[in-house]
Amino acid sequence: MNKRLFASLIALPLIATTWASVFLSGAATAPAAPQLPAGLAAPAKLPAIQDASLLEAWVRLHDRQDAIRLWDGSSLTGRRLADYLLDHGIPVAWDTGNVCGGGSCSIKHCNAGTCGYSAGQPIFVRIGERGDMPALMATLAHEIFHRMQPFGPVLDTRFEEYWAFRVEYGITPERWLTFGAYDPLEPEHLNLWLRDNGFEPYFQLPEYPASIEPLVNRVDAAHHGSFEGLPAAATGQGAAE
Ligand SMILES: [Zn+2]
Repeated sequence: MNKRLFASLIALPLIATTWASVFLSGAATAPAAPQLPAGLAAPAKLPAIQDASLLEAWVRLHDRQDAIRLWDGSSLTGRRLADYLLDHGIPVAWDTGNVCGGGSCSIKHCNAGTCGYSAGQPIFVRIGERGDMPALMATLAHEIFHRMQPFGPVLDTRFEEYWAFRVEYGITPERWLTFGAYDPLEPEHLNLWLRDNGFEPYFQLPEYPASIEPLVNRVDAAHHGSFEGLPAAATGQGAAE
């Protein structure tokens, strides 16, 4: 899920249609290939995205090869995200039916604790992003990251959303999104980050996927108290060996 806070004020550009060539060739049943802007170099193999601007966003994402660092020291690029969508045949469509409740999303199914996406299940993109190419690229990156199921076949979590937004920020550093010095492996930092970005709906999600729990810095309740933060030697506790 990707909740957008600001509607795009950019007017919807008129997209030239290619109906004339369709009728002249007699291939009226086959949809015309979407037109990419002149001068935009596209890879030889393209995903079957019918909308011209959504396909353009995919091509521009595919062009991005700068590394986005992840929690475990690995990295992702726009190209790897774009290739994942291509290799897995994931459709991309505008959310004309408001499936996502005002955001962008994919429908995820969970059965007996195992969650995943059906084959052919599209990524639905928020209609308000029409005409805003940087936002479309960022949204594709965010949603493809979810489709990769980076934490296994599990429910979405606050930690996964944090990283989905970090990934999209690596593609388009949108000013409404901030990361500050929050350490997402500290639950209080993660929750402050959500609050500071106005992502309160994500408080409905679990904090961390099970695979990340061993890395989470939970403050040990036994260490709370008047000596909190002081080395044990300074208080005479635990220093008698
Ligand atoms: Zn998301």
